[in-house]
Amino acid sequence: MLNTQIYPNTLAQWCDNYLQANEFNDYCPNGLQVDANTPIRKIITGVTATQNVIDAAIAEKADAILVHHGYFWKGEPAPLTGMKGKRIRSLLQNNISLLAYHLPLDAHPIVGNNAILAQQLDLEIIGALYPHEKHPVGNIAQCEPIAITDFITKVSDKLQRIPTHISAGNKQITQVGICSGGAQDMIEQAATMGCQLYISGEISERTTHTARELGIDYLACGHHATEKGGIQALGTLIEQSLGLKVRFIDDPNPA
Ligand SMILES: [Zn+2]
Repeated sequence: MLNTQIYPNTLAQWCDNYLQANEFNDYCPNGLQVDANTPIRKIITGVTATQNVIDAAIAEKADAILVHHGYFWKGEPAPLTGMKGKRIRSLLQNNISLLAYHLPLDAHPIVGNNAILAQQLDLEIIGALYPHEKHPVGNIAQCEPIAITDFITKVSDKLQRIPTHISAGNKQITQVGICSGGAQDMIEQAATMGCQLYISGEISERTTHTARELGIDYLACGHHATEKGGIQALGTLIEQSLGLKVRFIDDPNPA
């Protein structure tokens, strides 16, 4: 593909195909969300298409932004005004296209957020949290027996962030439920599937009760922190496969 001009549609088709994006029922459109219709040489990746990420892309003279959290979520107001209006104005005035992949990038077995998170934490994915799912968004993983305190140290090291721990009294773990982002409510399914620990990004008030009452420990490791891996892995793959310049911009977020 080197020396050929790659337009946003072509890049989106390549990503759609690799991530099997059309096989997901999602809360947002996956693929090309804003088409500036200019050839792509440089891509900025990020977890979320924030104004900071857009400003970085403008400064870097990038032609496209590729993120996990794009725009046009189900139920949000349609008008391109306010914060959303400014973001889209910034993109189009600077000829920058936007591509976004949500669930397909959580679930992918190689570059997916869960796959990368499992790898970072020395967990081996052995199945789906919901066994009927064709492309599981949440997984079950196993590990060598490890004290939960040691596992928390590992999470803190690898994600550069201390997780919030809700203890249900498990001292040692071998089976872990795992789903990046805002998937705290899948904790019940993780308990049903026999995990001693469930890890996700966020925590709600109710998560604490569920953990304690179902006897499953919980680690809230950060929505942003658990979803930095997938988009970077996809970016590296695009760089290698399509010969485009790709740079990850971290717009830090404690949540
Ligand atoms: Zn997310």
